Amino acid sequence: MKRTWRRLILAGLVAVLVLFLGFVPSDRLAMPVKGASSADWNPKSFWCSPWGKSGVHRGIDIFAQEGTPVMAASPGIVVYAGYDTIGGNVVSILGPKWRIHYYAHLKEIAVKNGDFLHRGVEVGTVGCTGNAAGKPPHLHYAIVTQIPHVRQWRGGKYGFDRMFYLDPGAELTKHAMGGDTSKWKD
Ligand SMILES: [Zn+2]
Repeated sequence: MKRTWRRLILAGLVAVLVLFLGFVPSDRLAMPVKGASSADWNPKSFWCSPWGKSGVHRGIDIFAQEGTPVMAASPGIVVYAGYDTIGGNVVSILGPKWRIHYYAHLKEIAVKNGDFLHRGVEVGTVGCTGNAAGKPPHLHYAIVTQIPHVRQWRGGKYGFDRMFYLDPGAELTKHAMGGDTSKWKD
């Protein structure tokens, strides 16, 4: 009997998670760096190659002063908050449509694994950790889709990977929330 209850509760939790991730009515995105605009990144830098050790640039770099708040562009669950040598202090958030929003080179991390975040919540601050050391402080922001976008397939060395990365600059422009961060709630 106890086991059945546990299973029911687990199924309920999974259902809530699926509903949340798959059917959020709005897929709008908040600007992930406080006060930033599209003038703060180079739209041509996405998928730019060669690009250091990563080979190709899978995101955009949003430049800002060190310590500027970095906010969750989408609602979601923190699936990773920690350090790696390339990204430095990084946060990955699983959001609507099973997309992973990746924030790298943070000076500080303000969230932890498993946190459930609303859009616009501070996840950390702009820095130059990882392989951004010695470069102007910026947020490296990437959007990974776990459902391949077949039309984005290209030939060449990184052509296969291209199906799994969205252009964050284009997504931010297309689904922009507008300027007043105090209104970013859901
Ligand atoms: Zn970058």
